[in-house]
Amino acid sequence: MAEYLASIFGTEKDKVNCSFYFKIGACRHGDRCSRLHNKPTFSQTIVLLNLYRNPQNTAQTADGSHCHVSDVEVQEHYDNFFEEVFTELQEKYGEIEEMNVCDNLGDHLVGNVYVKFRREEDAERAVVELNNRWFNGQAVHAELSPVTDFRESCCRQYEMGECTRGGFCNFMHLRPISRDLRRQLYGRGPRRRSPPRSHTGHRPRERNRRRSPDHRHGRF
Ligand SMILES: [Zn+2]
Ligand SMILES: [Zn+2]
Repeated sequence: MAEYLASIFGTEKDKVNCSFYFKIGACRHGDRCSRLHNKPTFSQTIVLLNLYRNPQNTAQTADGSHCHVSDVEVQEHYDNFFEEVFTELQEKYGEIEEMNVCDNLGDHLVGNVYVKFRREEDAERAVVELNNRWFNGQAVHAELSPVTDFRESCCRQYEMGECTRGGFCNFMHLRPISRDLRRQLYGRGPRRRSPPRSHTGHRPRERNRRRSPDHRHGRF
């Protein structure tokens, strides 16, 4: 029996634990879900809820009609957002293995940013500190997330360009970053093998990339 329960834990057959929360770290029923959301006490992954705002979804003129924001502008805006968050979190808290941003429209997934750190203690510290921060005029809401394998949580149809549920799909629609940025953020050999830093006395590295004044003061 125990073995059976273990085998169905977090799957759709599990009548006790919510499979959506288990796999995706968010469920459309939120706290009213009839199944359990087992919040982790330790995790490498944190989620910053509703942090990314896609300008195509939010840009509206005074009369309520949508402004036109081109796909190129959206990608550029997204890459800047991604780079800023990734760089700042990695410098403040520790090495990031993977970061993903949801482009879903449902309230429980829209703009969610999942950051998987290499070390659980970095994730823990990030959650505590980020919950006292503001980003783009809104309070940051961070929590430890049960998601460890993003292949389980993302929508395969979306990746093939075939998801018929669109933005309201309950699996993650992960917005890709541009190839150059991917190479820049994930492709650094020596950095990944650097020894763990002490939590104090860390001096921010000098960066040569283009930065707006906001970056220097760290909006986080
Ligand atoms: Zn649920
Ligand atoms: Zn989908």
